[in-house]
Amino acid sequence: NEKIILTNRPEGMPTAEDFSIQEEQLPVPQAGEVLVRTLYVSVDPYMRGRMSSAKSYAAPYELGDVIKGGSIGQIMESTDPEWKQGDIVAGLWGWQRYAAAATDTLRRVDPELAPVSTALGVLGMTGLTAYFGLLDIGQPKEGETVVVSGAAGAVGMIVGQIAKIKGARVVGIAGSDEKNNYLVQELGFDAALNYRTESNLQSALEQACPNGVDVYFDNVGGEISDAVLSLLNKNARIPICGQIALYNLQQPDNGPRMQTQLLKNTALMKGFLVGDYAAEFGKALPELAGWLQSGQLQHAEHIVDGFEHTVEAFLGLFTGDNLGKQLVKVSEI
Ligand code: NDP
Repeated sequence: NEKIILTNRPEGMPTAEDFSIQEEQLPVPQAGEVLVRTLYVSVDPYMRGRMSSAKSYAAPYELGDVIKGGSIGQIMESTDPEWKQGDIVAGLWGWQRYAAAATDTLRRVDPELAPVSTALGVLGMTGLTAYFGLLDIGQPKEGETVVVSGAAGAVGMIVGQIAKIKGARVVGIAGSDEKNNYLVQELGFDAALNYRTESNLQSALEQACPNGVDVYFDNVGGEISDAVLSLLNKNARIPICGQIALYNLQQPDNGPRMQTQLLKNTALMKGFLVGDYAAEFGKALPELAGWLQSGQLQHAEHIVDGFEHTVEAFLGLFTGDNLGKQLVKVSEI
């Protein structure tokens, strides 16, 4: 077996030297476990937080530990009659080619419903994040303006499309013209702005949002969010999903203080974690799958081929290499 372990705690932007591939014997599943062969691994921005020793909502990875996270695999060997050889499952064994996984940590993946990789994206963690953050906190109404940052990423592109389904005007912010063209031309966003090339993001936003901003779904934080928050409408809602622009900072980020904006507009800003909605996943997944099947929702995946490219794929999240959900394909079904 091969697994990728954390060898150094990154300072600033992580590098390939912070990780190494470790070889070991194939694990033997114990009672209540199955042996899985990994098909896809997920690389996610939140993993950066777990590489640091700072206290957060998920425990830090220990040095020498495999990088845990979402993966899809096929059962090779089972000790549990409920889980059969050949079944496709999603679990949290992370960056390893094979794993012995406890069956009570697994979710079944139906290969008839959609390609199995979607269980890590639109029909998995990132789709659910978009769904609950937008619908529970953002609550977009017909005719309102929704702005989403990180708009061409896994969460962001689903947020924008669900907001369109709810009848909102949607403006995305992403880091390349190619991504923005995709959002407008393929996904039906009303406008999309390139934060890297706009000389004045705030005035570009003012033009793109002539009626102000009712919902701001924040994936990135930093100066992009400062610009959006200056355009809030009365009773605006701001789901705080992620702050990727800050994850590699080595100094605290002292931005403008926004409390006055919130007060003047009686706006609601609320952080959330997708895991807190676990009891409602069973209600959300069929709705997301229904939108996918009816064509109201589209998704993109950025798939790197080969387990040995996992770290590269992870680092690419911070340079914007991906359009849609970043995955690594490890083996064929
Ligand atoms: P994405 O697919 O959106 O990938 C990350 C994207 O972030 C990149 O493609 C890049 O696109 C953009 N980005 C990277 N660095 C910066 C920067 N400095 N400033 C602006 N944009 C940047 O990842 P996910 O969809 O998986 O995650 C999106 C956000 O949601 C993350 O912040 C993540 O931590 C958060 N998240 C939160 C969850 C929760 O439960 N609260 C659950 C899942 C995700 P570009 O080319 O546009 O720069």
